[in-house]
Amino acid sequence: MSLDTQKIRKDFQILNQIVNDEPLVYLDNAATTQKPKQVLDAVCNYYEHDNANVHRGVHTLAERATADYEASRDKLRAFINAKSRKEILFTRGTTTGLNWVAKFAEQILQPDEEIVISIMAHHSNIIPWQQAAEKTGAVLKFVYLKNGELDMADLRAKITDKTKFVSITHVSNVLGTINPVKEIGQIAHAHGAIMVVDGAQSAPHMMIDVQELDCDFFALSGHKMAAPTGIGVLYGKEELLNRMNPIEFGGEMIDFVYEQSATWKELPWKFEAGTPNIAGAIGLGAAVDYLTEIGLDNIRQHEMALIDYVMPKLCEIDGLTIYGPKNNTKRGGVISFNLANLHPHDVATALDMEGVAVRAGHHCAQPLINYLDVPATARASFYIYNTFEECDKIIEAIKATKAFFGV
Ligand code: PMP
Repeated sequence: MSLDTQKIRKDFQILNQIVNDEPLVYLDNAATTQKPKQVLDAVCNYYEHDNANVHRGVHTLAERATADYEASRDKLRAFINAKSRKEILFTRGTTTGLNWVAKFAEQILQPDEEIVISIMAHHSNIIPWQQAAEKTGAVLKFVYLKNGELDMADLRAKITDKTKFVSITHVSNVLGTINPVKEIGQIAHAHGAIMVVDGAQSAPHMMIDVQELDCDFFALSGHKMAAPTGIGVLYGKEELLNRMNPIEFGGEMIDFVYEQSATWKELPWKFEAGTPNIAGAIGLGAAVDYLTEIGLDNIRQHEMALIDYVMPKLCEIDGLTIYGPKNNTKRGGVISFNLANLHPHDVATALDMEGVAVRAGHHCAQPLINYLDVPATARASFYIYNTFEECDKIIEAIKATKAFFGV
C-alpha cells in the first residue's frame, strides 16, 4: 500500500497557506515537522478535560492524566520494539537523551579509555562526549567519511578494546546518509563497548526495532516525528539503566527521602524528576498512533520515491553541488546542496520568496561542514505530506534563483 499524500495533507492545516504570494512548500522537516490535527487534538483534549499532575493524586483527573501519560510510554515501547516499558525514558528530546548517556559515561569512563563518534555527528552527539572526555581523561576519536558515507575501514581501525562508547548518528541530518548502525553495534560489542544511536533523523522516517539493532541506547525527538516540541525518548537496555545513576534529582523520582539521603523509584521513573511534559508525552503518543497507521515502511517508500524523483532533476542543474551518498538507497529524505558560489543563506532566502522553505547553515554539525570545506549548505528535507509537485516546485525555484543571481 502506498501513502495517500492528499489525504494526509488534510490533517496538516498549516500547509494550506500562502507564503510570499506562493503556496507554502515546507521542506525543512529535518529541523522540525508539522503536527497533524490528531496530535493537536490530543494535546488540546488533555488540557481541556484531563489536566492534572501525574503519579500523585488519587482524584479522577490525576488518574486519567497518569493513565494517558503512561499509555504513551507503552506506545513508544511498541513503536521502537523495546523489550520493556522500563526502558522508555521521557526526555526533552534527542539532545537530552544523548546528554544523559554521556553522564553515564562520566560515571564509568577511566582515563585513556576511548569514545568513538563520527565526523557527521550533530553537535548534540559531540559536545556531551567532549565534556565526558574532559572530565574523565578519556579520549574522543572521530570516524571520517568516504564518498559521503562512513568510512567503515576507519571505523574498524578506531574501535579497539580501549573503546567504551560508540555513538553514531543513524541518519545524518546534513548528508542524509543512513549509517549501518546494526553492523557498527556488532563491531562495538565485539570490543565490549556500549553502542549509542542518535535516532533523531531515523525514528520519524523508518521502522525502528531496537532489539533487532541490538543498540544499548537510542535517542529520538518527538518534534521531528509529528509530535510537539519539548518531548523525546531515551531508550536504554534495562541492565544499563539499572547501573546508571539518575541525572536529575527531586520530586517524582524518589521512593523515600531522609534528612541526609534518599532512595530512587524503580525504572523508568528513577530518571523522570519533577513534573514531566505530560501534554507533550500524550501528543507524542498520538503522533506514534498517526505514523503507525500510515505505516513506517510506507513512509520510507514515499520518501525514497520523492528522492528518486527529485535527485536526477537536481543533478541536471548546472552549478549545483549535492552532498552525501551517491546511492539513493543509502539516503534518508534529506538533500544538502550548494548553488554555484552563492551563499546558502541567499539561496534559502531566494527560495523562500518562491514559498519554498529550506534551511541554510551549518545544521548543528560544524565539524562536518569544516570537513566538507564549505561555508554552509542549503538543505531540503522531506516528509509524509510532501508531493511530487512540490519536488517540481523546488526545481523551478532553484532555476529561478539561478537566473536571478545570474549564476
Ligand atoms: N541529532 C540529529 C541527527 C539531529 O538532526 C538533531 C536535530 N537537528 C538532534 C540530534 C538534536 O535534536 P533536538 O534538537 O530535538 O534535541
